[in-house]
Amino acid sequence: MSRIPEPIRVIQRPTPLHKLERISAQLGCEIWIKRDDLTGFALGGNKGRKLEYLVADIVAQGADTVVTCGATQSNFIRQLGVFCAMVGVRCAAVVMDSPFPDGNTRPASSHGHQGGNTILNEFAGVEKVAIPDGPWSELEARAKSLAESLRAEGRKVYEIPIGGSTPLGAYSFREAGRETAEQGPEFDQIVTASSSGSTQVGLMHWFAGTKTKVIGVSCDPEPEIVDDMAVLASELDDLTGVHRDFRASDFDFRLDYVGDGYGVPSEEGRAAITLLARTEGIFLDPIYSGKAFAGLISLAGKGELTGKTLFWHTGGTPALFTY
Ligand SMILES: *Cc1c(COP(=O)(O)O)cnc(C)c1O
Repeated sequence: MSRIPEPIRVIQRPTPLHKLERISAQLGCEIWIKRDDLTGFALGGNKGRKLEYLVADIVAQGADTVVTCGATQSNFIRQLGVFCAMVGVRCAAVVMDSPFPDGNTRPASSHGHQGGNTILNEFAGVEKVAIPDGPWSELEARAKSLAESLRAEGRKVYEIPIGGSTPLGAYSFREAGRETAEQGPEFDQIVTASSSGSTQVGLMHWFAGTKTKVIGVSCDPEPEIVDDMAVLASELDDLTGVHRDFRASDFDFRLDYVGDGYGVPSEEGRAAITLLARTEGIFLDPIYSGKAFAGLISLAGKGELTGKTLFWHTGGTPALFTY
């Protein structure tokens, strides 16, 4: 059982929580929004919460180098890179433009790979190792071998999996659940983008046993992610001593809004971004939150959203500037 370090606080909390009056009127159901796009850290996004614990652990372990991996436009690598610079730790990241699930082929089209987070990563000082597109497993294997070679050079390396989905990352979202419960009304459901899983796992861990259901809108065409979420949830059980004993089937994980693949913008996502921007003045992103909001619109249309719904804005807006 690992320990929970004292977090290094960098985000402004609580992040704003407010009702979307105009969208609610338009969709005919009560929609609120949690503004994790406005954490005030490194242009916002859900990774700031995870990193407060992860970077505290990096420092506590005395590591001098962090190795991670992700897509070229990873919002996690941007926020990690900045945080590493702040604590004086080297940050190396193996990246692919368009990683895809094992057994699949590269999506026919993929999102812009220049601009956006790549510019911000340069400011942060991320040491980027770009490799050709391939499956996620290959990306992870390359990160592992980079970590090994840096160790062989005498570096004290801390490895972080894709998206920071470790038990500590999930713990930060359990705490985000607490923050939300203290802040607002009781919601019937929370709708969030879900990818590496710790956002959904953490929120579900907090809200289990209440009336609040958590609906994860997947940004990856991979139904097996629920198995990884179940493993992560049991690790979070051990970390907290609060045993939820979730099984894979407990995760409400919607695969209907992925479109043509991870990182490939969808028509519905584009429509959702346009609608929220023009109705409320809030921008979503094309890879995660836009697809999640497209899911919310669809579920509202099918009458699946009764009572109060909270849309969790996970950030990601730098990817809007990559076309
Ligand atoms: C990483 C990310 C997500 C997914 O969060 P997970 O905890 O990895 O499931 C959603 N939205 C944005 C903008 C992200 O960067």
